[in-house]
Amino acid sequence: MPLHSGEIVLGILGGGQLGRMSAMAAAELGISVIIYAPEGNCPASHVATDTIVAAYDDETALKDFVEKTTVISYEFENIPVKTIEYIESLKPKCVFPEKSLLNVSQDRIKEKTFLNENDIQTTRWAAISDTNDINNVSNLWKSDKFILKTARFGYDGKGQIKCESESIDNNAELDAFLAANKDNDIIMEDHVSFKSEISIIIARDINSKTALYGPMLNEHKNHILHKTTVPCDVSEKVKEQAFNVAQKIADSINLVGVLTVEYFVCEDDTVLVNEIAPRTHNSGHWTIDACSVSQFDNHVRTVCGLSVGNSERHSNAEMLNLIGKDVNDVDQYLNQPFTNVHLYGKTQVKDGRKMGHVTKISPKTDS
Ligand code: AMP
Repeated sequence: MPLHSGEIVLGILGGGQLGRMSAMAAAELGISVIIYAPEGNCPASHVATDTIVAAYDDETALKDFVEKTTVISYEFENIPVKTIEYIESLKPKCVFPEKSLLNVSQDRIKEKTFLNENDIQTTRWAAISDTNDINNVSNLWKSDKFILKTARFGYDGKGQIKCESESIDNNAELDAFLAANKDNDIIMEDHVSFKSEISIIIARDINSKTALYGPMLNEHKNHILHKTTVPCDVSEKVKEQAFNVAQKIADSINLVGVLTVEYFVCEDDTVLVNEIAPRTHNSGHWTIDACSVSQFDNHVRTVCGLSVGNSERHSNAEMLNLIGKDVNDVDQYLNQPFTNVHLYGKTQVKDGRKMGHVTKISPKTDS
């Protein structure tokens, strides 16, 4: 017999703001949450029923976590796949989304291979190891600009460097990047001169029913998401491609949970996938204030075996991230109409650290 939501204990691996907002959504459904994170006093722990503070390879603590929870999810994609495998050796099929997409999304080379094998367009790419490879690929592509990225553990522009074809040799910055990453896989990507960056979030439940959010327009500052706007002004062709790709990926892995797809929109309205993440996303934070059922509500619902909720938006929305010292200016937003401030309870302000966000809603202008 299916569990009544009050009987479900959701375990979340990771203790950041995404876990925090999922835990808050779970509480609204009467679902208890246990956070598993390597650090205590983390944003998610402040709002959860309980927190287990332990390393991701601590088998005793993981066993305790599995015993105390009904179902387990994660809030960021760098949870070791081995952790999920260990959990599922104790309790099969208890982790959602299942690990294949987690494995793929942790490594840009695996990610692009998976996408291209599914006939999904990405930027042109190649795995490289040294300046010889870079010169060869650059000659083959006949492109004047490209980007090098570490295949793993890069986010918000970390672990990447822009480069021009004419300055591959005797380039101290490039040499330093290659030396620092001599033990890491590196991917070379065409530098795309895109018109805009958009994303789609899709939630899919155990009965294969889906709900889509977006597309949203994402603007970055210093490689970190600065602002997200919905609705975003893109053609029907772009919308259709973006929706179809998200649906195709979700169906191909029989997704149970939430998946985010980030895209570059090219001048000719071709849509290229930049990144995928089997989780809720910063570009979907506006859904808390502009939809009846947010991305976090649908994360909780789908991984807990409940029906996915309607993702329709009742308002236009603009979400601004509060990065580092931005949080000191939060007062200016507190008494603005139709504006909601969300702070993540992080005590230490650091450059580039996501401290909170602000969402301003206005009457819906699209159908
Ligand atoms: P990523 O970590 O891959 O999401 O990259 C962070 C940001 O860098 C993206 O949101 C883009 O603004 C920019 N970027 C990444 N890859 C490319 C590319 N191949 N061409 C142009 N800009 C890129």
